[in-house]
Order: sequence, then C-alpha cells, then structure tokens
Amino acid sequence: MDYSGRLRRLQAALPESKLDRLLVTHLPNVRYLCGFTGSAGVLLVSDREATFFTDGRYIAQARVEVCGARIVIARKAPFLAAAESLAGSKNRRVGKRILGVEGDSMPVAVRDRIAALLGFRFKLRSAPPLVERARMVKDAEEIGCIRRAVEIGAGLFPILRKKIRPGAKEVEVAGALEYAARCAGTEGMSFPTIIASGKRSAVVHGRASEAAIPRRGFVVCDFGVILAGYCSDRTRTVHVGPPSRAACQMYEAVVEAQQAAVASVRAGVTAEEVDGAARRVLRKWKLARYFTHSTGHGLGLEIHEAPRLAAAQTQELEPGMVITIEPGAYIPGKWGVRIEDVVVVTPSGCEVLAPRDKELIAI
Ligand code: ZN
Ligand code: ZN
Repeated sequence: MDYSGRLRRLQAALPESKLDRLLVTHLPNVRYLCGFTGSAGVLLVSDREATFFTDGRYIAQARVEVCGARIVIARKAPFLAAAESLAGSKNRRVGKRILGVEGDSMPVAVRDRIAALLGFRFKLRSAPPLVERARMVKDAEEIGCIRRAVEIGAGLFPILRKKIRPGAKEVEVAGALEYAARCAGTEGMSFPTIIASGKRSAVVHGRASEAAIPRRGFVVCDFGVILAGYCSDRTRTVHVGPPSRAACQMYEAVVEAQQAAVASVRAGVTAEEVDGAARRVLRKWKLARYFTHSTGHGLGLEIHEAPRLAAAQTQELEPGMVITIEPGAYIPGKWGVRIEDVVVVTPSGCEVLAPRDKELIAI
C-alpha cells in the first residue's frame, strides 16, 4: 500500500484546513495512513512529520507494520502520550496553534482530557474529514482486495442454497456461511450476518435469529467478509417454496430498480442521482414508500464509508470509488426483497463485481 503517498497528501492538506497538527484516532484512518492493524494506536501528523503512538502490547507489531512514521511506545493511553508530546513541545509562535481532532469518532471525555493537557498551547478543533475524503477513492491495490473479498463472499452462495430449508434456524444458516468464510481464509464477517426469512424479510436489518425458516416465503441474505482488512457486502434474496405471482413481481421490481441504479453509475453523476434512479423504478411499481433506506454506500476498510447514495447527497462519483447498489422493498408484516452488488466507478460507467445469481431462485 502507498502509505507514504497518503501521508504526503494529508500533510499537504493541513495548511489549507488551517491545522497545525492532526491527531488521527479513528483506527481505520490510522491503518489507512501508516498500516497499523492493532486496536490501540494514534497518529500525530504535522506538515513535516508523523509520529505513531501505541502501547506495550504492540511493540513488535508496530515495528513490522507501521510505515512512514516515528514509533513511540507509551506507558499510558496512546492519545494521552500524543497530547503530552505536544504539551512539551516548544511553542515560539505567538497565539494558539490548532490541533485538529476527529470529532465524529472521538469520545467527549477523550477530547476533554486532551484539552486539559494542552492548556493554552493548542486549541482543539474538530477537523474536516480529510482522511475519509481520501479513502473514498481507492487505488488499484485496494480495489484488488475488495474484488477478492467480493469473490469469496459470492462463492458462499451455494451454502445458502444447501442450508436454507423450512424448519432450519436462521442462525444455523448464518453459522454455516460464517464457518465457510473463515475456512476460505477471511478474517471474519464485515458485519453481523443478516438472514431474514418469511415475515422477518421485511425487517431491513434482520440479523439471523433463532426463528425457523417457514415453508414458504422470501429469505433476505445479506453478508460480507473481510479480507486483508477490506470488506465485501452482498445481498441475495431467495424464495422458499414456489413463489406466487405477486412475489415474482415484487422481486422483478427490485431487480429492475437495482439495474437502473447500476446503469446510472459513472464518474460525474451525483450520489443522489443514483439513488433517484432506483427510486424512480420502485415508484413505477408503486413500491417507493416501501424502500426505506438509502440506495448504497461506499465500502473499504469499513463496511460503511463515504459516499452515501441517498437523497440530497450532492457528492459526485469519481473513478475508483467503490460503492454498493442495494435497493429493496419491505412490506411490514408480509415480506421484503433486497438485492445488493458492489460496483467500482469508472470514467464511463461502472464494473459490477460478481454480478451473478440474480434470478429468483426457489428453494
Ligand atoms: Zn449488505
Ligand atoms: Zn450494504
């Protein structure tokens, strides 16, 4: 991974954001900038240098993983060590300097302790999401990781066909999937597996439960794996027993909405335009009011990243962004359908990763 390039670009962005330092505490951002994969570490960045602070558990790992930053092993919480290093730094400039922090993810108590340590030397300010913005556009190596993760996730589909049976518990299906994902070499699932059957298919985030799969109805299966730190995300909806005409129509509507949204993706269109493309189709089928979430999201080191594909999101898509397209329709107490693919934005359109298995399958 191009850690030095990422760090350089961040350092170049500090002055225009009027920041003297940025304290990176959100772990996926730390990983993105310097490669550290552990659970305790912060990166303090100035326009010239970067220092990584961790604790004694990560001495060996930090030496192996961290690129482009000086490593400090602290005897206290890494964020405190970072703040102390600033408190002790000579400040010859008149007036307060600005330390940017990641306000969206930093607990108030942590912010207060840092502010107390820094006193009058630095003023804390919630920084703009500089690292998140950089992470939106993936390089070829990152796209390669996501592509492999999506392929492995898609390869688990036959397990759904085998394990989904009337009477089987949703958690049993999820367990078989997750075991196979681990055997395939993944680090784990990118979020709690969703297996939502029968009436539960109308629950948008229906985590696999103890419920038994009924004799007839949809089963929404939404899951992802993590490979080399990168997430996949994919939804397929299958039907147990022969689907009714209404069920087939419902499925057809969601497929059409998904394809319309995929067809609208290319560099230069806005996130809300892609969302609108899916919503227009569902409106035609009189299902728009049952589509109760956004059309998709970026993904990478985290399962949900910028951009968000929803109404009023004016972010333009750029080549190299990796996003999901996942419209659905959910009629409470009855049933629900969702279909989701991961796509890579290109200058003229997009590449759908592992687009297969989208016809309605009756089990
Ligand atoms: Zn999903
Ligand atoms: Zn998703």
